[in-house]
Amino acid sequence: MSTVLITGASRGIGAQCALRFAREGCDVAINYHHSEESAMALVKEIEALGVRVCALQADVADSMQVRKMFDTVRAQLGAVDVLVNNAGIAHVGLLTDMTDHEWRRLIDTDLSGAFYCCREALLDMIRAHSGVIVNIASMWGEAGASCEAAYSAAKAGVIGLTKALAKEVGPSGVRVNAVSPGVVMTDMMASFSEEDVAALKDETPLMQLGAPEDIADAVLFLASEKARFITGQVLSVNGGMVI
Ligand code: NAP
Repeated sequence: MSTVLITGASRGIGAQCALRFAREGCDVAINYHHSEESAMALVKEIEALGVRVCALQADVADSMQVRKMFDTVRAQLGAVDVLVNNAGIAHVGLLTDMTDHEWRRLIDTDLSGAFYCCREALLDMIRAHSGVIVNIASMWGEAGASCEAAYSAAKAGVIGLTKALAKEVGPSGVRVNAVSPGVVMTDMMASFSEEDVAALKDETPLMQLGAPEDIADAVLFLASEKARFITGQVLSVNGGMVI
């Protein structure tokens, strides 16, 4: 039985990953930042599946809060066997309009947050000579998006982190991979108009947008024994939008 920690699991893709792992019989630690109510509702849903679950409030952009979060998981569920770095924010706008604060907040959340969590998780994983990390990147980290330069840079950083860390900790028995989603209908897409969403659909070879379940299935696969020989890879789940 594995213990899985998923960051940003109160909503969207993270919440779906938490459910998916719980259905496989894993104990699940749900990290959230602001959405306490939805995190608690998810805890109830997961408890009903008969596995152990805890919800942890922490800002992944703050290394001290991340450290405390891992200490709490260790005390409540044991060491983390599978880490899913999913917490993220987006920012749409011209680079020339972006403030220092907005830039730092995005990089701190989407890239440094993954670093802080990997650092904590690896303390236990390297000792155990086993463990899996799955980082949630984005197709914009692969291809770059106009008006999403900071987000694209952060997600490209996540891909670089994934590849480098896979080489560093492979000999210690730890696998590190990324899932790179395309357009997935979650709150993150709320600022897009109906026309924008329809245009994105038209641009996608499979002519449809993704659901959180599509991403959760890919995460589960990479975390599973079926992926035991896969490390340092980016699995793009994007309907063919970036190839
Ligand atoms: P979402 O519905 O907006 O949910 C974001 C989650 O991240 C929430 O649970 C939120 O927690 C959490 N979060 C944000 N900042 C945090 C922080 N500082 N500390 C801890 N948790 C934090 O987004 P989503 O679409 O599910 O996205 C999940 C991941 O997939 C992100 O990394 C995103 O970049 C990536 N992605 C999404 C898409 C897409 O089209 N949706 C495409 C490519 C990649 P609270 O609500 O509790 O604050």
